[in-house]
Amino acid sequence: MICVLIFGDVRGENCCKRELANDKKWTKIEKMDRIYLDHAATTPMEKSVLDKMLPYFCEVFGNADSPHGIGRRAVNAVDDARACVAALIGAKMNEVYFTSGGTEADNWAVIGGAYAQREKGKDHVILSAIEHHAVLYAGEKLEKEGFSVTYLPVNREGFVESSVLQEAITERTGLVGVMMVNNETGVIQPVRALAEIAKSRGALFFTDGVQAAPYIPFSVQALGVDMLSFSSHKFFGPKGCGVLYVKNGVKIEKFVGGGEQERGLRGGTTNVPGVVGLAEAYQQNVDTMYASNEKIKQIARRFMEGISSLSGVSINGGGEKLPGVLNLRVEGVNNVDLLYKLDLQGVCIAVGSACASGSIAPSHVLLAMGLTETEARECVRISFGRDNTEEEGAKAAEIFVKTVESLRKF
Ligand SMILES: *Cc1c(COP(=O)(O)O)cnc(C)c1O
Repeated sequence: MICVLIFGDVRGENCCKRELANDKKWTKIEKMDRIYLDHAATTPMEKSVLDKMLPYFCEVFGNADSPHGIGRRAVNAVDDARACVAALIGAKMNEVYFTSGGTEADNWAVIGGAYAQREKGKDHVILSAIEHHAVLYAGEKLEKEGFSVTYLPVNREGFVESSVLQEAITERTGLVGVMMVNNETGVIQPVRALAEIAKSRGALFFTDGVQAAPYIPFSVQALGVDMLSFSSHKFFGPKGCGVLYVKNGVKIEKFVGGGEQERGLRGGTTNVPGVVGLAEAYQQNVDTMYASNEKIKQIARRFMEGISSLSGVSINGGGEKLPGVLNLRVEGVNNVDLLYKLDLQGVCIAVGSACASGSIAPSHVLLAMGLTETEARECVRISFGRDNTEEEGAKAAEIFVKTVESLRKF
């Protein structure tokens, strides 16, 4: 009753009712025949991952910081998840920090790392020009606070050359951040070599591993990185859950403060179902990675064969790349028009990165690779996943060809 008096009665005509109406609308879409080719944006959660998570919502609901029995069961689940992730990336358990996702892990690594390095008189940060917005945002914030930030250019193929970092790095450089795999082009960056350069000059090296984790097996030790981020929903796990690996001995400042969770470095009641789901999804992903990559390669090949009759189509990015990410330039076709026309026919693709596609700004990644603004507006990203089939690849290609031809005529 007290709540009702202070906050008003929320049981009347209210937003919840409208949301229910929306729910109905959206579940209908599930039943439509859709070909989802936007796995770099997110992936559908695996049902078996949901099964692992379910007990941790209503039954084992404890706060992992509570010392009583129900809390301890939550702690056990979190410990298991942490041990699982640590083993899979070649880290120690106390080097794995759970976050609310890739964005928070990226923000934390760059800002927390830069702050800690400033204590040592190092106020220069180096990031690549093709980083995800979660990293670029952190760079902008640091610039406003008086750090100097250098953005490394990439070559036409879309990767950062070691010599470019060699030239940019100074004794004042505290942190270098270059992603493992670019989310728009799928181009794999030479992270190991870059990390070595950073280390030799006394700078921390951070890599955004969000796009790499679903497709590339790695050990943080072999990579030689100080920090690495990844996110559960890019490998068929739940959204809103991620990891920041921080090597033992590396000091970074906290980013989310309040509670003493995550070894006192990341406050906030632990998302127990989330971390359970993350670990399960990552385990499944690593177990099936080679087979999935092989399958994805075939699907992408079927798609490319299917569109081979189209002229004026080129692939952006070169060198080592993920098998399932195709960044295509379709001459004479506006990418947003193409996206919506394909969507009407049930084919889901992307323009640039999902986060920026609400706006019509051309992709900063493609511009950094030397494309003009006009060229960048002719580019789309198609990203396949292990849940796609070769038939879907072929069918999507057929629709793609027809749609491009009709847009060109128009
Ligand atoms: C998706 C993505 C992120 C953001 O991760 P969220 O968990 O969605 O916040 C960061 N970096 C890259 C490369 C990504 O692809």
